[in-house]
Amino acid sequence: MPQPAGQANAVPDQTLRGTLGRADYEHYREIPFTLPPGVTRLTIEFSYGGKAQHSVIDLGLADPQRFRGWSGGTRDRMTLSAEDATPGYLPGPLPAGEWHLILGAPNIREGATAPFEARIYIDRAPTVTSFADAPINAAPGWYRGDLHMHSGNSDGKCLSQKGEKVPCPVYRTVEAAAKRGLDFIALTDHNTTAHYDALRALQGAFDRLLLIPGREVTTFFGHSNVFGPTAFLDFRMTAPSYAQAAKWMDEVKREGGIVSLNHAGAPSGEICMGCGWRVEDLPAGAVQAIEVVNGGTMAETKSAESPLQGLALWQKLLNAGQRVTAIGGSDNHNADLPFDQPGAIGTPTTVVFMRALTVQGFIDGVRAGRAFVDVYGVKGRFLDISATNGEAKAVMGGALRVRPGERVRLAAEVRGASGGTIQLVVDGEADPVFRRDIQRDGAIALTNWIADSGRHWVRADVRDAAGRLILVGNPIYIEVGK
Ligand SMILES: [Zn+2]
Ligand SMILES: [Zn+2]
Repeated sequence: MPQPAGQANAVPDQTLRGTLGRADYEHYREIPFTLPPGVTRLTIEFSYGGKAQHSVIDLGLADPQRFRGWSGGTRDRMTLSAEDATPGYLPGPLPAGEWHLILGAPNIREGATAPFEARIYIDRAPTVTSFADAPINAAPGWYRGDLHMHSGNSDGKCLSQKGEKVPCPVYRTVEAAAKRGLDFIALTDHNTTAHYDALRALQGAFDRLLLIPGREVTTFFGHSNVFGPTAFLDFRMTAPSYAQAAKWMDEVKREGGIVSLNHAGAPSGEICMGCGWRVEDLPAGAVQAIEVVNGGTMAETKSAESPLQGLALWQKLLNAGQRVTAIGGSDNHNADLPFDQPGAIGTPTTVVFMRALTVQGFIDGVRAGRAFVDVYGVKGRFLDISATNGEAKAVMGGALRVRPGERVRLAAEVRGASGGTIQLVVDGEADPVFRRDIQRDGAIALTNWIADSGRHWVRADVRDAAGRLILVGNPIYIEVGK
């Protein structure tokens, strides 16, 4: 994976050094540096000495054409791209040519000096972006979030002070997600990249909630979420073919992001223009995830498993041998919607095992498939499955290699679903032989399976006592041969 610029362990592309003295007191100095063509992100770290003598250096930035921002003495790091910038700085193109650091000296005592160093990092290709400079949580674990929602940067609406429905500002969505107790969200406005600057500004104050760069690539032939990259993607497909989708899907792949198909079973045509997924010729690896439960569809159809959801396409892709991770998303368009309603922020919730709560941890977690959908977003509900064959063991998302005739023991770990049932789904079939009652929280032995000569995928669904689907698990892949 490409390293985001400005990381502590990265080597700066340029380092500017100098010293301010008493002569600079209440004056400004411009320190020139040159950017090459094709820079997609500029990150500057600034430090200076003389603080013991109360020397202070203020900081600002100008590109070859215009002023790009001022942070005075409050920041020692800023980053700018076409889409987003550190608060106090202006996002926009990063033109080649002579830039200037603007240094101001509000205080330098007689006889004192202030040696400074500016470390300049550049990216020359768009890449996965994080709005946080450090992990939101460095611990490995299961993290809960919502991966599909809209602000007023597209068609998200909420109530104004006067009670009017207005384009909903980004902070309302972020605030609601924090209230819901989520660990991560991806705000996925339609095609635009305009929400990233607000997200960067909010990330600092929401330091328990990872804000993942997302957008809903919205075409005439289906919608899909992209997670990770922030640069513009050309969504303008004019035919339902991979040849056309590739112009943005390949870009996402180059940048290290992931693509997830949204509400794939939704109708198309005048009822819902462009909603259903209609690109039939997707090669393996083109998409890494699929939204199997969409909150908006849940609200409309009163079901998490109506044919308008993505379950059928997911099973088709799995049966074709693709490894695609099921996720969920509320598709929230109103941050004020009460949390107990389908389509509210966090309904459904996607729960992902990550090595750390970071954007890269999320991307790797979804790729690994150790994730489940908590349809009603009830904290404490949990599902994982395992498959063991002698010493070999695979957990949800993983693969187990077996020889024909060997025994595979399948077990589950379920919490928050006592009184309900767990059903093993094998190659898309939910045979009642593989159904168990859930008496209490903890481990449940599911079945002993004798491997045959075919490859299979095995996953689990959990229903409550009323028969409602509450947890959707991802597959373990049973492969033949060692
Ligand atoms: Zn959509
Ligand atoms: Zn949407």
